[in-house]
Amino acid sequence: VLRLESVRKTYGRGTVVLRDVDLAVPPHTVTALIGASGSGKSTLLRCANLLEEIDDGAIFLDGAEITDPRADVDAVRRRIGVVFQAYNLFPHMTVLDNITLAPRRVHGVPRAEAEARAHELLERLGLGGRAGEYPDRLSGGQQQRVAIVRALAGRPRLLLLDEITAALDPELVGEVLGVVRDLKEEGMTMVIATHEMGFAREVADQVCFLDGGVVVERGTPEEVFGEPRQDRTRQFLRRII
Ligand code: ATP
Ligand code: MG
Repeated sequence: VLRLESVRKTYGRGTVVLRDVDLAVPPHTVTALIGASGSGKSTLLRCANLLEEIDDGAIFLDGAEITDPRADVDAVRRRIGVVFQAYNLFPHMTVLDNITLAPRRVHGVPRAEAEARAHELLERLGLGGRAGEYPDRLSGGQQQRVAIVRALAGRPRLLLLDEITAALDPELVGEVLGVVRDLKEEGMTMVIATHEMGFAREVADQVCFLDGGVVVERGTPEEVFGEPRQDRTRQFLRRII
């Protein structure tokens, strides 16, 4: 679904944040990006969603190069759902309006259709009946589930999830991870940046360890967590587990 080829990203005057990153995300798989703070996980996700321009290399979505200057950025973003750490819901809008805003305004979906889809997704994510509420009436976990519903509203090919549980109280983490688990069951293709190693190990088909913008190690969770080949991976895992 998603492929990165020798992606290089620098900020400002030459701070290299991603260095020759190759990544292939097959359909219906979950890829976990792990690595220390500042290793480039968020930057990779932002590049994949064209929120950042890359300096070199290429990114492909379903075989078509999206980093081609002629690519239709809006069309690409429509096929990629994104959820970030801070849920970023609009506080002055109801849950329903938060979810249907982009489909209606940007993608021209008729209101009735957008709302039907929103209600269906809310129901599926355990938020049936909350459509008329404002975000501040919901718990952090519920707000984050609304953000996931919003990302799913446009029927994306791919979901990019960046530390979606990092801002949550520990007792709320489980419900959000449960949603990710369910989406995996349904075959959603996802790339997840996470510090939750236990979760990465459980849910990922592929784990990529980033260090200083380089993919130092990749493999199945059993390989990367169970028998890491690189010293840097071992050191990282020893520090955090
Ligand atoms: P964390 O685990 O803390 O979320 P991360 O792996 O997501 O970290 P990134 O946010 O991708 O790391 O940052 C990678 C590097 O890029 C860091 O050194 C950071 O300081 C730098 N960086 C990120 N965004 C910018 C920016 N807009 N301008 C300049 N440098 C940036
Ligand atoms: Mg990050």
